[in-house]
Amino acid sequence: MGLLIYLNGSFVPEEEAKVSVFDHGFLYGDGVFEGIRAYHGKVFRLREHIDRLYDSAKAINLEIPLTKDEMIEVVCETCRRNNLTDAYIRLVVSRGAGDLGLDPRKCPRPTVVNIASSITLYPEELYQTGLTVITVPTRRNIPEGVNPRIKSLNYLNNIMAKIEANIAGVPEAVLLNQEGFVAECTGDNIFIVKNGVLKTPPPYAGILEGVTRNAVIELAQKRGIPVAEVMLPRYDLFTADECFLTGTAAELIPVTKVDDRVIGNGKPGPIFLQLLEDFHELVKVDGIDIY
Ligand code: PMP
Repeated sequence: MGLLIYLNGSFVPEEEAKVSVFDHGFLYGDGVFEGIRAYHGKVFRLREHIDRLYDSAKAINLEIPLTKDEMIEVVCETCRRNNLTDAYIRLVVSRGAGDLGLDPRKCPRPTVVNIASSITLYPEELYQTGLTVITVPTRRNIPEGVNPRIKSLNYLNNIMAKIEANIAGVPEAVLLNQEGFVAECTGDNIFIVKNGVLKTPPPYAGILEGVTRNAVIELAQKRGIPVAEVMLPRYDLFTADECFLTGTAAELIPVTKVDDRVIGNGKPGPIFLQLLEDFHELVKVDGIDIY
């Protein structure tokens, strides 16, 4: 059975869910989005995702034609219409249809789309064995250009890095920032553990401030694990005791090899496994009820 898609105020069957070829989301990548997950009938940290969506929109001068509470309702109603308790949800707001020029003033009405479905980012066995990743030549966008904190529809930076990983035959790429410090992966934030300290790049490293990232930092702090948001050179990845990625689609996944260096003993580490268990507990309670 096909999905029911939210499109500009209505729920329509997926084969009828179409947007204009003049939409500037399509023509120019002009828009913002969120990837959100629901677990056990709760939309995990939905308010945080909505806040980030509206901040992204504000950063590109895009006025979303719904209040935050209305948007929360759109997300929950899309799950209800599709009888979902567990889902991967894609909320998109583009500049809307305009003319062939890029001036956003020619786009009178933003396009709002919400899809509740599922996603598989990496093959299941890699969640047990760990990912092999490489650092790639493509650098993360500079914050003074399209700031990586904006979750915009322009993902070419990430896609180019993914292509480099594909060419190298590995499932994920680590992007460095302009200074050569570790930024993030193509759709995930990155963490390491060294001597019992959990480390991850700060937002000003040029990253998307992940909702999952922030949840993992809080879980670590609750366990009394010291957390440091610090610039990480590649050396720190190579010599880490543990490494893992976080993201809504990826959830938590271990990394066991970086640029051919085996991380720790080549197996998911104890702090990762503890945080994974805590995360699975967290998603049962931390979220907005769909039903
Ligand atoms: N970085 C990038 C570039 C991403 O696309 C994502 C996925 N949204 C993340 C990090 C992880 O963010 P979150 O935990 O909010 O999904």
